[in-house]
Amino acid sequence: MEEENEKILEAAVCPFCACLCDDVVISVDVAENKIKGIRNACKFGVEKFLSPQNEGRLKKPRVDGKETDYEDAIGEAVDILRNAKKLLVYGLSNSGYNAQRVALEIAKHKKGVYDITESICHNLLYSELIKGKKPFYYALLDEIRDNANVVIYWGSNPIVSHPRHLSRFAVYPIGRYAMRGVLDREIITIDVVDIELKKISRWFLRVNAGEDANIAEIMKQLVKGETNGLRELVNGEIDFDTIVKLTDRLKNAFYGVIFVGLGVFSSENASKKVEAVLSLVDALNKEGVKFVLFPMKGHFNVVGAVQLLLRETGYPYGVDFSRDRIFEPGKTTVLDVIERGAVDTALIVGADPYSSFPCDKARKLRDMPLIVIDPFESPTTQFASVVFPTAITGVETDAIAYRMDGLPLKLDKIVDSEYLSDKEILERIYEGLVGCL
Ligand code: SF4
Repeated sequence: MEEENEKILEAAVCPFCACLCDDVVISVDVAENKIKGIRNACKFGVEKFLSPQNEGRLKKPRVDGKETDYEDAIGEAVDILRNAKKLLVYGLSNSGYNAQRVALEIAKHKKGVYDITESICHNLLYSELIKGKKPFYYALLDEIRDNANVVIYWGSNPIVSHPRHLSRFAVYPIGRYAMRGVLDREIITIDVVDIELKKISRWFLRVNAGEDANIAEIMKQLVKGETNGLRELVNGEIDFDTIVKLTDRLKNAFYGVIFVGLGVFSSENASKKVEAVLSLVDALNKEGVKFVLFPMKGHFNVVGAVQLLLRETGYPYGVDFSRDRIFEPGKTTVLDVIERGAVDTALIVGADPYSSFPCDKARKLRDMPLIVIDPFESPTTQFASVVFPTAITGVETDAIAYRMDGLPLKLDKIVDSEYLSDKEILERIYEGLVGCL
């Protein structure tokens, strides 16, 4: 029961990871403007909901390191953007869909480059799909929960990256064909190190670094019924008979899913691995076994950023609006345009490229005028020409975000904030720019 001064949200959406758990119960002390209770969120979700009190928050807008107000900072940002010969707009996977739209308009207006974190995390999957050699077998999470009785996590450790993925979508919930939840599902983990998931997996296959493609290829051949010469292809500690037994489990699945993580997408031989896992899923389907491949997306609205770009341009990331051919991975993508010195100014929204980019690219970024919009201090904010603090999306401002399977969800504003939202800041910058025409 709600007490006076208490507001309860029964189905808040967690804005931390792309699971976007939509069953979080939050009680708010309205007079104090503070969250006083959270149920159903994992520790990352709890930290995110409580982050308004985080000591690392940006306190005020800054221009050249000096604190100022929004008006002054917006004026400076507009001046910088007006003088930019070629703008890079980057980040946006931690922003709501409508903020992403405004950022995209700024990039278009400046005929600049617009890129998102997907350019670095899952780019190789798109490259394989664009080649069009293999079909992409995919399903929504609700379908997977209802049907899957064989669940593989490959190069993915959801216990540390998406803690409630197991309980909400894939392992523990009751499904139409898994009436006893985990007891009716075969959980398989494939990784290069022992991870927490091993404890609850019926099968754990530890592969040597970079060898996933070889294992997937052997499994594909076994699915097709070929065995000749395969034993000799197995290297290291892996036991060929274990691979045979494991592949049998896949072949006998009623419905299977491979959740693929960054251990496959962003590591040694990544494109070979992606191609091999896609081929394995294709072979299973061709043998009449329903299997899907599902990429484990990280940031809470990276899928919104991809959907927006696909709708507006037909491409999933890394577009350069100054070119006839606006999407060309290796030329129009963030690391490449920085490397070539093809951009001279950057607008970074909700990302910390100084921490995540290779050092040489981060150094080049540091040497150009940089505008950063973020709720928190980061190494990137330290070097920025203009810094804007923002309200925290999904906690201090409402927004639309897309779950990792593309389902749009509304995030609620839970507490009030003294800060503008990233969308409002971007809109004011855009209005300033357009007014300068
Ligand atoms: S799994 Fe992700 S979305 Fe769900 S509560 Fe945890 S951090 Fe939030």
